[in-house]
Amino acid sequence: MVQIANVFIYQEPRCAAIDFEALAGYVRRMLPSASVQLRGPLLEDAIDQRGSREEVLARALAQAKVRDLEAAVPGGRQVLPGEVRYELARLRNRDSRVFGILYDAGFLLDVYRELLPAAESGLDSASIIFTNQLIGSRDEADKRYHARSVILGAPAVVSTSGIVEAPARTAGYYLARGVSQALGLTEIGAAELGRTIADDFLKTDDPRLTEVAKGLTLQALSYRITGEAFCESPDCRLYNAHRQSELIRSQLDKGQLCSRHAAAIANC
Ligand SMILES: [Zn+2]
Repeated sequence: MVQIANVFIYQEPRCAAIDFEALAGYVRRMLPSASVQLRGPLLEDAIDQRGSREEVLARALAQAKVRDLEAAVPGGRQVLPGEVRYELARLRNRDSRVFGILYDAGFLLDVYRELLPAAESGLDSASIIFTNQLIGSRDEADKRYHARSVILGAPAVVSTSGIVEAPARTAGYYLARGVSQALGLTEIGAAELGRTIADDFLKTDDPRLTEVAKGLTLQALSYRITGEAFCESPDCRLYNAHRQSELIRSQLDKGQLCSRHAAAIANC
């Protein structure tokens, strides 16, 4: 068991649905002996402070982009000037949204690590970075990239797009999507068809995201404390949900830790 003395939470300004003050309050209640600090966005604040280094940062982000879901991103590859310009524009605009770009978790974590204060890299400190970037890692079983809602590690990353995109929706939704594509429906027609499906899922502006963010933050902290990733129980907040229904069940309907994890967190 590792004792955590400091928790640093880096906010994502592009996700207004998450109440970060409420999230910090929750972490303080769960870990009363730790100091919990809320900070601004890691990448964007680094751009403001570093000026001339912003291009280096933008290039590293472009290099972390997954171009082929079935091939591992190679280190140090060449990127196009347009890709670097795209990343720069995104970093400079705190309202920008990233659509359809998946970043390799390993390379993205390297970028984040470079920017974190060295004094806060000790075992007793945990940094959790919220981002709207979609993050993926390769699955050992099928050797493909899969989007993730949380990456456990140092630092840990919670992807707000990943919460919406990574856990799968119901089979009915995918069936309806296939039907609307087959019928050549417009986006509005497809959305209308989608509404007829009994399918609860989280959306980008969903007020329930704060509760989900609390659970994913706890997953990151529990991993640091116990060294164990996730929980087997679908009713525990540390459950690694692969479906939206599982995420909603573990984080919103139940919203509790199992007795084993509740005891582990209380005793740390
Ligand atoms: Zn548990």
